[in-house]
Amino acid sequence: MNDKEARLRSLPSVDSLLAQSPIQTLIDSHSRDLVIDSIRQTLDSARQAILASRPIDTDVCALMQLIEQRLRDTTRPSLMPVVNATGVIIHTNLGRAVLSTAARQAMLAAARSYNNLEFDLDTGKRGSRLTHAGQLLRELTGAEDALVVNNNASALILILSALAKDGEVVISRGQLVEIGGGFRIPAIMQESGAHLVEVGTTNRTRIADFAAALSERTAMLLRVHASNFKQVGFVEQPPLSELAGLAQERGVLAVDDLGSGTLLDTAPFGLEREPTIQESVAAGADLVCFSGDKLLGGPQAGIIVGRAGAIEGLKRHPLARALRVDKLTYAALIATLQHYRRGEAVECIPVWQMISSSLDDLRKRARTLSAAVGGTVIEGESTVGGGSLPGATLPTTLLAIDCDVPDMLTARLRQANPPVIARIADGRVLLDPRTVLPEQDEALLQALRSSI
Ligand SMILES: *Cc1c(COP(=O)(O)O)cnc(C)c1O
Repeated sequence: MNDKEARLRSLPSVDSLLAQSPIQTLIDSHSRDLVIDSIRQTLDSARQAILASRPIDTDVCALMQLIEQRLRDTTRPSLMPVVNATGVIIHTNLGRAVLSTAARQAMLAAARSYNNLEFDLDTGKRGSRLTHAGQLLRELTGAEDALVVNNNASALILILSALAKDGEVVISRGQLVEIGGGFRIPAIMQESGAHLVEVGTTNRTRIADFAAALSERTAMLLRVHASNFKQVGFVEQPPLSELAGLAQERGVLAVDDLGSGTLLDTAPFGLEREPTIQESVAAGADLVCFSGDKLLGGPQAGIIVGRAGAIEGLKRHPLARALRVDKLTYAALIATLQHYRRGEAVECIPVWQMISSSLDDLRKRARTLSAAVGGTVIEGESTVGGGSLPGATLPTTLLAIDCDVPDMLTARLRQANPPVIARIADGRVLLDPRTVLPEQDEALLQALRSSI
């Protein structure tokens, strides 16, 4: 009998492991089936390790630890908090906007008690959930009415299905964009039963191009924000006010998909100027739609503001029911919008706190990390991300860690608890304190200590 066979034979049986006393605690806190699965899988990989001559400790104690670890891995929720050290503020893969304290508390309050989601407290009769956030959105954007749906993609689908089905939608060739995840404007147009009419060229479209394309079949002129790319050089698009003027003159709708959508001017933060939601409303767009969890800094939602008649048409469409949002979303959205009403958005909403972090503060945090774990403090750039302000960056201070295999360090950081997500550039691992929540600084430090 060779050594491998001897080691294989020495492995304990499932039953003998089940008889170990700590196992009962595991069965109590998980379930017997899960524990047995975990024992079987642990023994399987031990066998494979022995056959492949990989080092493995096969005494009962070591195996018990592996079993426990495996159980922890399989039973923990798949969605968990992570530390975003990438410097991308609105990171779609990492859940976009982090909510303000007030928004989190509002969600908790809505979750733990009954509420008046669809109940009119004045009349004691059934109310409409669609009225929530309406007053705030009217006030903040200057629009006549508003509607909140699942996300901005569904806002677009609802607008096209309800108001342009079987009609023509005129759009500039420069704005036939793919937003991400395969979500393409021409495809949703087709899905909604609207006919796409492209005008102008990739780089230049004039108001005369729109005017020439209008016919009795035209339902809508659509402007889509080029969120995730940038055209420079010989480029031209008509201002929204001209589009809206033309639409009104010819009795069709002007719709503006702002993508991110911001209530605050981005210029004072050293960023390029994004058109604000209020400006689009004032320019005369019949409908303006944008995301709740990009620059607005709230929960995932698609927010549509505009003329009362057009919003009414959306509310009556059957899709509005399918795309509606739940009480938790309303709670978080209302609390987020209240920050804007009170003029405290920059101080209270994490997206704006991160955008407005001072270089001094970022440098201090990078130096604290470096003092504890080594690495070099260097100048770098953060980005806003999330399909807003393409190409725009904010100067930041980074902790750069040199190592032989940067991929291995980032993989170890991802295994930390909570996982840390970093980026690699020029063969180094870079960590940007701008997107690390201050209360996660300690967790980041721990993860770095045990990973470097
Ligand atoms: C991000 C974006 C969308 C999609 O918004 P979601 O809220 O992610 O559905 C639609 N249009 C534009 C221009 C965008 O930037």
